[in-house]
Amino acid sequence: APWGSSIAGLLAGAAARYPDRLAVIDDDGGTTYATVWTRTQSIAASLHADGIGRGTRIGILARNRRGFIEALGAVAAVGADAILLNTGFAGPQLADVADAEQLDLIIHDDEYAEMVADSMVKASIDEADLERRASLGGTVEPTKDVGRVVILTSGTTGRPKGAARESGPSALEGVAALLDRIPLKLGDVQVIAAPLFHAWALSHLLLGFSRCATAVVARKFDPQRTLHAVADEGADVLVVVPVMLSRILQADDGELRLPSLRVIASSGSAISGQLVTDVLDRFGPVLYNLYGSTEVASATIATPDDLAAHPTTAGRPVRWVDVAILDGDGKRLPEGSSGRIFVGGALKFDGYTNGDDKERINGLVSTGDVGSFRDGLLFVEGRDDDMIVSGGENVFPSEVEELLHAHPAIIDVVVSGVADDEFGQVLAAFVVLAPGEDLTDREVKDHVKAQLATHKVPRHVRFIDELPRNTTGKVLRRQLSVS
Ligand code: ATP
Repeated sequence: APWGSSIAGLLAGAAARYPDRLAVIDDDGGTTYATVWTRTQSIAASLHADGIGRGTRIGILARNRRGFIEALGAVAAVGADAILLNTGFAGPQLADVADAEQLDLIIHDDEYAEMVADSMVKASIDEADLERRASLGGTVEPTKDVGRVVILTSGTTGRPKGAARESGPSALEGVAALLDRIPLKLGDVQVIAAPLFHAWALSHLLLGFSRCATAVVARKFDPQRTLHAVADEGADVLVVVPVMLSRILQADDGELRLPSLRVIASSGSAISGQLVTDVLDRFGPVLYNLYGSTEVASATIATPDDLAAHPTTAGRPVRWVDVAILDGDGKRLPEGSSGRIFVGGALKFDGYTNGDDKERINGLVSTGDVGSFRDGLLFVEGRDDDMIVSGGENVFPSEVEELLHAHPAIIDVVVSGVADDEFGQVLAAFVVLAPGEDLTDREVKDHVKAQLATHKVPRHVRFIDELPRNTTGKVLRRQLSVS
């Protein structure tokens, strides 16, 4: 392939083989591979004419729509670097990242115009400008000399960090590892609800292009519309983060039949055992839970069979990837023992763009998470720094959260540690009740007390309307307080 296997190469390849097949269906309708590739080349030619090429750093700040895909393809086609920006960024965060990543240009949706103007980046391309460039009709010479794609971490533990990857073949290896476990066929239709700037959805998009699949996307997530998109387009695959699944189930009246749906792929944060069970009950054996991160890409995948037997598992390592549980001294722990999760093998992460790196031991990279293996299945207990130490005992929020999720009156919950004079830390539970339900804090505590040790019983219980989350569905624990 003259274009290599960058996103430009994937689009060119699909356009040559299946020009009339739909590449993307977005809020504005469907577009064939031939048209998407023509428009992508036209944008690339216009960028090239502006002197943009190897070494130019281009931020893309866009929602899930065709323009995102064409912009990303065009940046790859001119050999520039694409930095995928989080649409949930507040103004100052964008300015920070733009500075840290040394952006020369931002291609953005109109709704972010003001923020982009404030970011001090010298040049920008808005929706009308992108559309104009897409219609010029220029072409560019094939090049294998593709730039890099920088994906940002969610910034759960601080400032978002850029994790650089080749946009060439190595990016695809991570994607290929998905195929090992998640069945995707030629010409499948995928509803990609998760944001495309996140490694997770992007992998599925690229995987789809390599299979001449159709991506169905929307600027904004709406649970009803997502379900109807699956039904109307006869979608085979649905790509989500867990909170989307929980909103889909809440909005669902159970009437809609989805016979085409073969795969629901969930990743980006932990999914509760209760939600897994509810999804399997409603949609059948179609759920896959993928554990990974921006840095290490996919580490493990749980198949519907794994999940039916063990709803809270993250599954087994993907092909070519080594997942190890290490103790404090960096020694491998046996099955059943809990420790820090490290990932190695076919890993392309080579540090953050700011020069920092993750902790590494013997070629393995730290995930920052803690977990254990049982019968070959990984169980992720949580992030190392979310662990609560209460009266000298370690408690992972996930254990208590799992139990509370199983309570029929509770639809969402997060547990975190708050400072306490006597115990160092005590647990606080932030609970979202199902509509029409009522619970007292006593009842919440008793529910935990009936099954877990006393130091795991939340001392504080707060009822709130909604948990604060980022765009990839992670709960922002640090924004919750009991005062
Ligand atoms: P930052 O590094 O900036 O703090 P982040 O770690 O949240 O942000 P991501 O790379 O988006 O950035 O998230 C990866 C983390 O998400 C994993 O390390 C893990 O804690 C969690 N995670 C992702 N998928 C799963 C899953 N299937 N089960 C459990 N945890 C998951």
